Amino acid sequence: MTFTDRTKDPRALRHWYGDIEADYVYTSGVAGERFFRELRDHGRLLGTRCGECGKRWIPPKLFCEDCFREVSEFVDLPATGRVAAACAVRVDIERNPLPQAVVWGLVRFKGFEGGLVHRLLIAPERGRAGLVVRPVLRDAASRTGAITDLEGFAP
Ligand SMILES: [Zn+2]
Repeated sequence: MTFTDRTKDPRALRHWYGDIEADYVYTSGVAGERFFRELRDHGRLLGTRCGECGKRWIPPKLFCEDCFREVSEFVDLPATGRVAAACAVRVDIERNPLPQAVVWGLVRFKGFEGGLVHRLLIAPERGRAGLVVRPVLRDAASRTGAITDLEGFAP
């Protein structure tokens, strides 16, 4: 049986294990460029707002997913967000124990679609949905225009 033959039995498919080298470079795009410049130069977190339906997004988008209009209005995020999900990471990518657990979370902002996944600057046992957090930025002189200009979120 080949891959293109139809089957409902996954054991009937031929397969082999291997590695395929696949490198990608993703650009941040026009909206992402502005997001990172504002973060680096002014310490602001920006989303976008659709002028037609009023929906707002973080990360910022240039086209509305609902009404397909071009979006050109950038708006500040609220000063605080709320953790929607949290996870304590205790091993590195090679499964070696980390000296200290790192907490990651999805932070959502009131009135915005989407959110930001980033470090939560808290002890692992404090990581929970519903926690109100604020962004913590690096010193202005050390910012590079990357998401790491945001150190994370703290209560
Ligand atoms: Zn819209």
